[in-house]
Amino acid sequence: MLPIIRKTADAVQELPALLDFSAQALREWFQQRGKPAMRARQVRRWVLEAGAESFEQMTDLPRSLRRDLAAALVPLGTRIERHLQAADRTHKLLLKLRDNRLIECVLIQEDNRRSACISTQVGCGMGCVFCASGLGGVERNLAGGEILEQLVRLRNLCPDLQRLTHIVVMGMGEPLANLDALLEALEVATAADGLGIGARHITISTVGLPAKMRRLADLGKQYHLAVSLHAPNDELRSQIVPTNPQNGLASILEAADYFFEQTGRQVTYEYVLLGGINDLAGHARELALLLRGRHAHVNVIPFNEVEGLPHRRPTPEALAAFQAALRQQGISVKVRKRKGSEIDAACGQLRRQVLGQ
Ligand code: SF4
Repeated sequence: MLPIIRKTADAVQELPALLDFSAQALREWFQQRGKPAMRARQVRRWVLEAGAESFEQMTDLPRSLRRDLAAALVPLGTRIERHLQAADRTHKLLLKLRDNRLIECVLIQEDNRRSACISTQVGCGMGCVFCASGLGGVERNLAGGEILEQLVRLRNLCPDLQRLTHIVVMGMGEPLANLDALLEALEVATAADGLGIGARHITISTVGLPAKMRRLADLGKQYHLAVSLHAPNDELRSQIVPTNPQNGLASILEAADYFFEQTGRQVTYEYVLLGGINDLAGHARELALLLRGRHAHVNVIPFNEVEGLPHRRPTPEALAAFQAALRQQGISVKVRKRKGSEIDAACGQLRRQVLGQ
């Protein structure tokens, strides 16, 4: 089935967006304008719980207040530039921010699971050689409200406005390079009067910034951490992840161990399998040695071919042998299924296509 492609012609909004404000800041905003502070809570609930995308929809607010609000604020500050839907119910949104920059987010629906994959930066500064998001470098960090809006927009696509069950922070950008804004958004995502998503169902992925990993561990939250390794030794990893020499595998693994000690949560190690580069059974054995004795799980992700990048998918035989070699060494391993491939669900591809890059 061909994807449904929708374009919107709306102008990008200049007014501040509701989710740019914290709950407290919005109460103050109302008070400063002589409006009851309780209205702030009401308006936030309309957006966070009831899926309202315009003040007109907030039918229990006085008409005059709705008019005043519409002149001063927008419920959502992003615009849907493209909306793609695959036959497997995966949705991808390309959102236009108020400065015209573009970000991607994805909704993956399987059985009773509704997972949102969100971005934290415009572009990415890590430059992993297999990734479309890193090709143009990082343009800027997203604000907390822009991260939260991706969740709201994806939740609004769920049938009957059902809650998102999981969040994976694995879209465009290095999440730990924008940790404060991410934490701000996740506070609302996990709050009972926010999006009500359990912290244990939220996975934060990182290429490995040890100081930030330790900071995350010290927060006392139950977020799940996924560390992208992609190679079993520094030499190979530095070819795949150009920022690797700044930290190195040993200090990344130490920080991951610290995360486990502090939170009791098993760390997942992500490994994008690139045909002919890091996919030998010998690499798997070396990886097993590196992870031996750790409470670790490995997610193997067969590379999605990306236009403009020279890498290729591993052969089915190489994938099977890699997996088997890890299992033989007693490492828990899973191959990540490919969802929504017909709509370029791999991170950063749609944005580059629209930007003509
Ligand atoms: S894989 Fe992740 S960390 Fe690496 S360049 Fe892409 S978005 Fe950045």
